[in-house]
Amino acid sequence: MPSVESVYLRSPRRVQTLLANAASLKEWRRRYGHGFDALLADYESRDRWTREELDAFSDAQRTLALARAARTEHYQEVFRRLGAHWTDFVHREAFSQLPVTTKQELRENPESFRPRGQLPTDRVIGSSGTTGVPLKLLKDAESTQAHWAVWWRYRRWHGLDLDTPYALFGGRRIMHTDQGSPYWLHNRVGRETRYSTHHISRVTAPEYVGQLNAERTTWIHGLSSSIANLARFIVEDDLRVTAPVRVVSLGAEGLLPWQADVIEQAFGPRPIHHYGLTEGAANASICPDGSLHVDEDFGYVELVGSPDEPQRIVGTPFTNEATALLRYDTGDLARALTSTCSCGRATWLLDGIDGRSDETIELPDGRLVGPRWAFREKLNVREAQIVQHRDLGLTVRVTPGPAWGEHDELDVVSALRTYVGEDIPIKVQPVESVPKTASGKLRLVVREG
Ligand SMILES: [Zn+2]
Repeated sequence: MPSVESVYLRSPRRVQTLLANAASLKEWRRRYGHGFDALLADYESRDRWTREELDAFSDAQRTLALARAARTEHYQEVFRRLGAHWTDFVHREAFSQLPVTTKQELRENPESFRPRGQLPTDRVIGSSGTTGVPLKLLKDAESTQAHWAVWWRYRRWHGLDLDTPYALFGGRRIMHTDQGSPYWLHNRVGRETRYSTHHISRVTAPEYVGQLNAERTTWIHGLSSSIANLARFIVEDDLRVTAPVRVVSLGAEGLLPWQADVIEQAFGPRPIHHYGLTEGAANASICPDGSLHVDEDFGYVELVGSPDEPQRIVGTPFTNEATALLRYDTGDLARALTSTCSCGRATWLLDGIDGRSDETIELPDGRLVGPRWAFREKLNVREAQIVQHRDLGLTVRVTPGPAWGEHDELDVVSALRTYVGEDIPIKVQPVESVPKTASGKLRLVVREG
């Protein structure tokens, strides 16, 4: 049976718009339905808390997380191995002695992290994970809303509101690669104009700019690589942006300094970004004064490793009754700042996030595509890394899953083809293990310089 996505992509534009709006209505209710306003009010009430208030809240939430974890098979085994009881880890110092939970542990046996049975209101959320291997995470309804509440607290710092219309440059494909202009569709439910990030090129850039101008767009949101790519064409070809863009917000990927520069040059404002992950283990948000604040009331964040180099972000979520996680290794890297911010918020600061940057593939016509989405498909791989050679050809290094065969290789190629088209050669190379960076990080895309 063809997937929902492939049916959608083959539909006429009118049907695509209808389907997108219907899906968006469902998603809108999930995010902002009953209970959301109260949650947002809660998060905003903690915005100006003192160090002591934040610590007291965090200590209480960490204790609840421990109690929740103590009801799971995975952590019962951890406590048993340590010959301890969960109450032994309530104090901050003791807590930091608990072993770190890896993505691999969660991926291999997600059921063992569940403190209770699955409810009809729970949802399985797929995440591509930093290793390019998908992760299935069970989330309860409130944790989804809490995620959006903490994100909206940050957006409201920057003068945005739920009814602010915006231009979305997301990773999901909104139209077929062969479809021509227009390269956007209107999603009235989400107050958004969705632009195709897979069609941005030097040739199409003037049309994108024309539409942003015609709609007098004030807020642009989406993938840093795509928005930076459009910005590059605007700057290089001297395209005129008359849209009164006030905020450019980026998510999902790391932001490289050169990307921020070109976006600022093209649209005016310095882009803002936040850090977060589906697992809800950690979240950090840029304030109007430009500092990246750890949202200490959302999860308990620790940096692990030598302070002389970027450290691993390890987080304990405060929400989600459906999956319990303690000291979860996000796979991302950061440094802590010892300074305080001029905005007056007491939360501690991160000096940028490393490890999610520059994960794009270049196509022969100059377009850049992020292959992360391709790896959301069910592929029989444990780890994957795409090497792009100087002639733009790709070698996909994979650590094969069980009973690896030729059809698995073909699956990898066809998943990628959906994103990169038919023009560039793709080779699959099974390897024992995908090489990591000096800091132990797996990069999804490596470009040969
Ligand atoms: Zn600040």
